[in-house]
Amino acid sequence: MLDFLHTVTYEGMSIFTSSNNPNIPTQLWLAARFLLVFAFLISPSFIGKKINAGLTFVSFGIATALFIFSIFEWNTFPTAFVTGSGLTIFKKLSEVGIIIGFSLSMVLLNKHRDKFDHKVFLLLQFSLLLNICSDVLFALYLRVNDVVNFTGHFFKVASYYAIYRAILEIGFREPYLLLFKELRETSERKDEFISIAGHELRTPITTIKLCAESLKRKMAKYKDARGLETAEKIDELGTRVSRMINDMLDLNRIEVNKLEVKEESVRIDIFLKKTLVDLRRSFHSHKIELLETSPITVSMDKDRIAQVISNFIGNAAKYSTVNSPIQVKQFSSGGEAIVEVQDFGIGISQKNITHIFDKYYRTRGGQKRAQGLGLGLFLSKEIIELHKGRIWVKSKKYQGSTFYFALPKRK
Ligand code: ADP
Repeated sequence: MLDFLHTVTYEGMSIFTSSNNPNIPTQLWLAARFLLVFAFLISPSFIGKKINAGLTFVSFGIATALFIFSIFEWNTFPTAFVTGSGLTIFKKLSEVGIIIGFSLSMVLLNKHRDKFDHKVFLLLQFSLLLNICSDVLFALYLRVNDVVNFTGHFFKVASYYAIYRAILEIGFREPYLLLFKELRETSERKDEFISIAGHELRTPITTIKLCAESLKRKMAKYKDARGLETAEKIDELGTRVSRMINDMLDLNRIEVNKLEVKEESVRIDIFLKKTLVDLRRSFHSHKIELLETSPITVSMDKDRIAQVISNFIGNAAKYSTVNSPIQVKQFSSGGEAIVEVQDFGIGISQKNITHIFDKYYRTRGGQKRAQGLGLGLFLSKEIIELHKGRIWVKSKKYQGSTFYFALPKRK
């Protein structure tokens, strides 16, 4: 504001034509310099503290207003320039004071150099140095339009440019870069941790499952019904834990773009029959029926598609009552092989259905009823999409759900 008035009151601008007196722009110049030096001198005491922007704005606003009134209205600001004799003693002493102020600011800034980005620190010091050069010239000029005065203005523009670079470009942009860098590193460490922890956990779980298998065989041999039941429980829980660990590892792979599918030519009807034989063993609480198949060849990763089917069947079992049927169909339509898994369980409300394939999403009803990480359907969607297929669901609350996936037919 003060600098703007300084500019427009200069007689060469022909705006304030009533006065050809260079005193007013000179006084405004000094007022602006006083404020600037003051800001530089007090700024180190605000390092690391939260600045009240409103209060700062109001304080500087009041100071600016007082300067303007004392120059234009009250005439209390001392005379700075007299036509004919040039700069007054007041102006010269003020410039010396301003130079001392800027020099002191450089010393203060230097004391806090470790708190600044090195580039910002250098730019601020450079700006202060340019300001000093500018004020040396302004203490020396004879006429407001001589070379000395002109050069002084150049220094001033350069000093503002240095501040602009320091504050706007580096002060705002690079801290975010720094922040993002730290975030990325933390996230990478987290991914690495999950990957290591997952693999570490998988080894003992596999051993536990092997032991449970052998225990099951022994208990069956000795006809120990309670022992057999316990061994089966251990095996079942082991399977559940290992499924969750695998889901976590898969999620991690998706996040680092490392989930891969190894596609091969597969007759999906034959594959489905085999997969269901295995799944019936794990989910003997429900009747898994295969109602329809059609001979189609698709290109797919067997393990990954088995994972999707197992997730559909697992959910159908989790979210429906024991002994209720789970119906599976496989057919061909519009150049796609479609697999559907229908249950007659709790169903999903319209509100929840849109989020069902989201990462970590679990409905309230789902949370109460069964354990899970809310990853199964998200991973299924990722797997199907890697196969360039489609995945969707139809459901009515309390009437059951039907989950579908479609894979393109092999050409
Ligand atoms: P999880 O089963 O581990 O919670 P999923 O991603 O497999 O995670 O499923 C997400 C949510 O979708 C579940 O929490 C559940 O609320 C709902 N859901 C999935 N399948 C069914 C289903 N067959 N019937 C009712 N709700 C389901």
